[in-house]
Amino acid sequence: MQNPTHIQGVSIADLADEFGTPIYIYDGEKITHQVKTLQAAFSAVPLKIKYATKALSNISILKLIRKAGAGIDAVSIEEVKIGMMAGYSAQEIMYTPSGVAFEEIKEAVKLGVMINLDSIPLMEEFGQMYGGSVAACIRINPHIMAGGNLKISTGHKESKFGISIEQLAQILETVATYKLQIVGLHIHTGSDILDAEVFLQGGNVLFEAAMQFPDLKFLDFGGGFKVAYKPNDIATDVMEVGKKVGEAFHEFCKQYGRQLELWLEPGKFLVSESGYLLVKANVVKESPSVTFVGVDSGLNHLIRPMMYDAYHSLYNLSNPEGKKSIYNVVGYICETDTIASRRELVEVRAGDLLVIKNSGAYGYSMASNYNSRLRPAEILIWEGKAHLIRRGENFEDLIRNQEILDI
Ligand SMILES: *Cc1c(COP(=O)(O)O)cnc(C)c1O
Repeated sequence: MQNPTHIQGVSIADLADEFGTPIYIYDGEKITHQVKTLQAAFSAVPLKIKYATKALSNISILKLIRKAGAGIDAVSIEEVKIGMMAGYSAQEIMYTPSGVAFEEIKEAVKLGVMINLDSIPLMEEFGQMYGGSVAACIRINPHIMAGGNLKISTGHKESKFGISIEQLAQILETVATYKLQIVGLHIHTGSDILDAEVFLQGGNVLFEAAMQFPDLKFLDFGGGFKVAYKPNDIATDVMEVGKKVGEAFHEFCKQYGRQLELWLEPGKFLVSESGYLLVKANVVKESPSVTFVGVDSGLNHLIRPMMYDAYHSLYNLSNPEGKKSIYNVVGYICETDTIASRRELVEVRAGDLLVIKNSGAYGYSMASNYNSRLRPAEILIWEGKAHLIRRGENFEDLIRNQEILDI
């Protein structure tokens, strides 16, 4: 993994001059490349990519992903609406709720998007309201422990997501009672999955259950492909997953008697590596045991290190040639706010620009105003030019919705 000074010929340092810091920068070419990689890996099957919008939901990014040939998976009614603003038709959107109010389901049905039913009570409510008149998908919990750590594992037995595969009989009964029209089955076992075996294991659960559903149009394998975070880190070999899952899928379709579509919902895989969070060192503070670099950002902008113990590579853009030292890079939030611990970096001086890599997925989309800080601007590099795709917040934005009492 290289440490770029330029993205598509645009100088990162110039972006700091023009837009200030901190800022999120996205490489649009990288996103397109990732979509194409996945399409190539699964070229042997009728593939539909449903980008997991929650990873990075800027409308310009969504437009770019649509242009590359993908649909979206939305996890809130707001994401459905944002997707539509980005030009996705209702048919290109899957709505995968997690225990939301039925009002929201009704709204989504009215908009014409496919609902991924995630509980038996929801199946019943859906059945009472629509019977078989609205096609739907069912989210199965396959009871597979997968993913980088427990916080991002979503398909194990204790996970809240989906309907347990052990309740298949009850699922079928509910389908029969309301004559539900089930056109898809879905699993999403977690994030940071390395192994083709996990996708195959999930596939086997889907294949077996699918034989009980005669009206299927697709099977959805979810997302979770791991990307490389560290130098020499391994990422999911998507070519291998594509080949193995593709072969198994063909076998299944033969048995099923009909060719179905294979859906995937990558989030991280499409946008993680495209993103850079550019920050500035405010202070270099030596203490007896550690040297801290305090930067003008923190867990309010990138919460992954504190929330998931995520490792983000970073480098000193301003001092590429200097001598190396070990640093703790920390944010400015009043809270333990460690971005990188015991990390070797080229000597950092106050004012240096640091680039935090792999910040495209779950970066801006999880950003907050904690400590009453402003959220940064987002810049997309597209066709060799820098485009401001969201301005940074100002103080007005921060207090906009407050009704200040006269006391
Ligand atoms: C979050 C999510 C994804 C994407 O996961 P990644 O690890 O980013 O690929 C896919 N499907 C569903 C239903 C999700 O909630």
